[in-house]
Amino acid sequence: MAKSIVISSGHGKKIRGASGYLDEVDEARRVVEKVATYLRSAGVTTTVFHDDVSTTQSDNLNRIVNFHNAQPSHDLDVSVHFNAYQTTSKPMGSEVLYVSSAGGDVARACVDAIVAASGLINRGPKKRTDLKFLNSCDEVSVLIETCFVDSKADEGIYESKFDPICRAIAQSLAGKAIAPSPEPEPPGLPSQPGERPLIGKGDTGPAVVEVQTVLGIVPADGDFGSITEGGVKGFQRATGLGADGIVGPDTWDELDDLESRKANGEERLSPKMIADICEVAGDSMIAAYGWKDRGKMPIGYTQGVALCFALAQKWLAIGDPAAVRMARKNTGNKDKDALAWYADKFGALGMSNSKDGIDTLRHLFALMLGLGPRESSGRYCEGRDTTADNVQPDTAEAGMFQTSWNVRSSDSTIAPLLAEFWENPNGFLMEFQEGVKPDANDLDNFGTGDGAKYQFLSKYAPCFHAFVTALGLRSLRQHWGPINRSEVELKDQANDMLMQVQVLVEAGEETPPPIPPVDLLPTITIKIDPPGSARVVIIGGAAEVA
Ligand SMILES: [Zn+2]
Repeated sequence: MAKSIVISSGHGKKIRGASGYLDEVDEARRVVEKVATYLRSAGVTTTVFHDDVSTTQSDNLNRIVNFHNAQPSHDLDVSVHFNAYQTTSKPMGSEVLYVSSAGGDVARACVDAIVAASGLINRGPKKRTDLKFLNSCDEVSVLIETCFVDSKADEGIYESKFDPICRAIAQSLAGKAIAPSPEPEPPGLPSQPGERPLIGKGDTGPAVVEVQTVLGIVPADGDFGSITEGGVKGFQRATGLGADGIVGPDTWDELDDLESRKANGEERLSPKMIADICEVAGDSMIAAYGWKDRGKMPIGYTQGVALCFALAQKWLAIGDPAAVRMARKNTGNKDKDALAWYADKFGALGMSNSKDGIDTLRHLFALMLGLGPRESSGRYCEGRDTTADNVQPDTAEAGMFQTSWNVRSSDSTIAPLLAEFWENPNGFLMEFQEGVKPDANDLDNFGTGDGAKYQFLSKYAPCFHAFVTALGLRSLRQHWGPINRSEVELKDQANDMLMQVQVLVEAGEETPPPIPPVDLLPTITIKIDPPGSARVVIIGGAAEVA
């Protein structure tokens, strides 16, 4: 009999699952909540998780598995999904997936119970060795495919038997009978507010995971160590709270606020565009390049800067004033403008900055790709240089380009970016994090007010930091030592990669038609015989016509 169960819904709020007559994510959440209610009524300690944050499939899977594995030792890990195949009126049925033999016993009991309670077709327990959830959870695990979202018959059964199905799942997981609900819960009743414990360094558990998740601290391992403490302090300074590193009611409120701004804001590029750009960046020569004295950068850096350029390009296309300023032609002022200071190097590579627009913008980001290795070894989370004494909110450097907030006076379009990214703090954090982990000193900030907000956002929404830096480079290039000393490498491979990104962004969001598998591609031969008549011969593929 299971005494303690961790149960989560498949996929996430921003990375949706299947949909048809039913929406997988919405229904999986509904099932999880109802099953949890039954489990708790039977005295089973039940922890629930829904992913509201992830925007990519891999991050979603990692986040779910990390949550399960961060919980104190428990008996079962359960993931609730809905299946999909093709739109049909016919019943399709229920199945429960497992990988270990102990999981197989639970899976069989679970699917039999669902079917007995509902009349759904029994597709049986199924062993699957290719599923991350089953393979990576530390405890015995099962993945429930409740029924098919694209089967009209399944939808009908599921809707009418929702409560018995959930009770059956709970009974099979708990391994004991559970009394039916006295009466159906009124829909839309807010779930009971979660426990908001006072937590600080040395604490562990789900509340720590929550803090780490909201603050984007990787890994979200549920262990409140010095990295998390630094992150909490840095966040407290940014939000005007006393920086004691302890999460109490005020800090919880600010965390809730941050979470909702992030969730309501969305990334400024579509998930598909982000995935495509990351692929192009990851496969590029510049991603594999060993930068002078710094070596190869973490993949998160190269793909992250590529995403920032893509967004700047989009903004330029709609005439955003900040992007227009970034993209203006070489000003010729070597004291102020990094493009003027680097004019010879751009010229040697045939990269002309003589016109306002996308080419100049791309060349600026190519230069920035070389700046990050010098300033931070490509680490989005880099804190201030603790050997220097720049601890004022305005002068404390932060982020991958080690820019500080006093740069804002160089261009009037910089300050509004702080408000904009504070309101919607999405800035490709997840993508910048690939291959990078913060150190103990990285995440704290210095001072108060906008300078502290600036430092926080530079590391939490790295795209914000990139845009501030892009503008500063055009008006205050002496801010960056490696630029002044001409140590920053300008590489045509950086420009080449960004050119590929540019083409993707120009092509827009439309999905190209699916390419048929190679062996179904017809070969088209056109023969002219006799002269004056044409014959088209298609060999292979579905049809063979002559
Ligand atoms: Zn699914």
